[in-house]
Amino acid sequence: MRPPTQLYVVPTPIGNLEDITLRALRVLKEVDFILAEDTRTSGNLLKHYGIENKLVPHHLFNEHKTIEGIVDRLKEGAVCALVSDAGTPAISDPGYLLVRACIQAGITVECLPGPTAFVPALVNSGIASDHFIFEGFLPHKKGRHTRLTLLSTEEKTMVFYESPHRLVKTLSQFAEYFGEERYASVSRELSKLFEENARGSLKELAAHFGAKTVKGEIVIVVAGAMGK
Ligand code: SAM
Repeated sequence: MRPPTQLYVVPTPIGNLEDITLRALRVLKEVDFILAEDTRTSGNLLKHYGIENKLVPHHLFNEHKTIEGIVDRLKEGAVCALVSDAGTPAISDPGYLLVRACIQAGITVECLPGPTAFVPALVNSGIASDHFIFEGFLPHKKGRHTRLTLLSTEEKTMVFYESPHRLVKTLSQFAEYFGEERYASVSRELSKLFEENARGSLKELAAHFGAKTVKGEIVIVVAGAMGK
């Protein structure tokens, strides 16, 4: 039998509050404290489910400093959960440094299966999902050209996170580097009231989103160079 878990990584909804597992709710109730990227956002989530527990800030700006203290508390026997603002911690969110430090310290870590934005976007795209790469956010300036050049010959399906105000620029750049006829899919506001899944060539998608003000959260899925 495996040892009891001391750090639970707990995915939370990416929009629709019904998208949380029964186990996630139980764990959030039972742990000694919850490490949260934003205590206000997670506080609202806990309130929604009627859960009272202690929230401790754990974000990009303090994680280097707080990890040692957290590991010490877990070594002393505490059990905690890590949540991010939405989706799965450590996926384009803080988390992996803590997970790595816990593993190195012999602390049992368990990530619960649950919501993350790239999986429904990939599946909704209808683009080959047998092999794919997750790129997350592209660098804004330095390294962007190098990354896009490297990706132009990538044969696997590619998944990107993007902000609404950069979407059209990114789609246009993809058309430039990957070819304007390359097939892609843009998922916006997944699991929310105004969810949109737009599919077509990069040229068509750039024109579609260029014709309106783009709002909400976005995942872009692009077919690989073999175009499956
Ligand atoms: N940890 C999260 C996950 O597991 O997907 C990702 C966090 S990252 C800071 C936030 C980005 O995820 C957004 O900018 C967007 O690209 C994507 N995202 C999150 N929620 C989304 C949603 N409901 N619809 C589409 N994209 C979403």
